[in-house]
Amino acid sequence: MLFANINEEDLCVLDEFEKKNTLYIEVKTKNRGCICKSCGTYHTDIKEYVLKKITHSIFHNKSCTILYHHRRFLCPGCGKTSMEDNPFCSERNHISDRTIDNILKFLKRYNNPFRAAAEYYDVAVSEVIALFDKYCQMKRLLLRKAICLDEVYFSRKRKKKYVLIILSFANGDILDVLKDRDKRTIASYLRSIDLNERNKVEYAVIDMNDSYREVLPRYLHNATIIADPFHVVSRVGKALDDVRKRVMRRYEGNKKSDGYYLLKYRDEIFFKEELSNEAVYNGHFKTHLSEFQLMRMIKALDKELEEAYDLYQAYLSYNHTDYEDINKALNDLESYIRDCKLSGIEEFIALASTLTFWKTEIVSSFCKVNGDRVTNGPLEGRNSMIKKILKIANGYSNFGRFRNRLMYSLNKNSRHSFEL
Ligand SMILES: [Zn+2]
Repeated sequence: MLFANINEEDLCVLDEFEKKNTLYIEVKTKNRGCICKSCGTYHTDIKEYVLKKITHSIFHNKSCTILYHHRRFLCPGCGKTSMEDNPFCSERNHISDRTIDNILKFLKRYNNPFRAAAEYYDVAVSEVIALFDKYCQMKRLLLRKAICLDEVYFSRKRKKKYVLIILSFANGDILDVLKDRDKRTIASYLRSIDLNERNKVEYAVIDMNDSYREVLPRYLHNATIIADPFHVVSRVGKALDDVRKRVMRRYEGNKKSDGYYLLKYRDEIFFKEELSNEAVYNGHFKTHLSEFQLMRMIKALDKELEEAYDLYQAYLSYNHTDYEDINKALNDLESYIRDCKLSGIEEFIALASTLTFWKTEIVSSFCKVNGDRVTNGPLEGRNSMIKKILKIANGYSNFGRFRNRLMYSLNKNSRHSFEL
């Protein structure tokens, strides 16, 4: 159907022509008369026609403009004039309802920028944004049994560069986005939510950030706070990487040395969970070497580095353990923390304090919900989409709009509020 909100038999097409790849459709509607708003007289008297240009982008290969002869009635009873109902646009604007609906649907896809919508539907970017702001005000979603909290980079132009995303663990829906992750922001947000709803949260996964740990238990009384395992592993990885860099500095005087080559250019091997046995030609050593052999050479460089590597691997295998008994997970973590301290490696001694501080939350991460550990995994999948949304827009300066865009375009069931 070419037009929404109007029956074909009510429409008189006066002319149709193309000019500069734009299709013009000149129309008026059948005169069904009107009831005067002032005196209530029904009449069909016309004072004049006002020509309205309406953007009606329903074709993909060309623009379309409706030239609408908008009828103005003149009441014979009281002499007042009134415009007939405009069936093409519900608003006092020049974009047809069908176009608005198309634009909003187009923006539902996260990788469609406002600019593309403007080009595609032949309206100004500012108008696309105004439509989005008007019809895509997203309400927060209800808290769930298991929620994930994580920061997401927003803008470098802002004092607070990160925003806080609250996600449903079960389906990855964005429940809300907060402007920053200050204690005060999180507290006032949670306080605004009804206690019954808050009490339904049983698990809250967080990255290792102090503010959550302090605030969440005050408002989520039934929630077990869980340190996201990926974040913990990356903390341990950072300790190993710091040792690597420290040892590497010793070789900086001789950039052609084997030690410098291994530590500077083959650092990816450190973080692999499994090393390959397959020998590949190595340009530096001019021979075939496997990752295993390279790792052996790396370990031979420095005693502390070797131990740091083994400690990192030990944490990976701890993290992969399937614990039936949470007390066992606690004992193993405590013994791991002792190993870190005993290593005497400064980076791992510092790590031991971090792990001690987060002990309860780390151990809780071995709890299972419907057979799975609760992690911030659902956000990992969202992160690349969020980055893309920022990139295609060249960043956002308006936080509210960014929040609406994320919730509108990334949540499968979100709807705009424009009614066709
Ligand atoms: Zn009247």
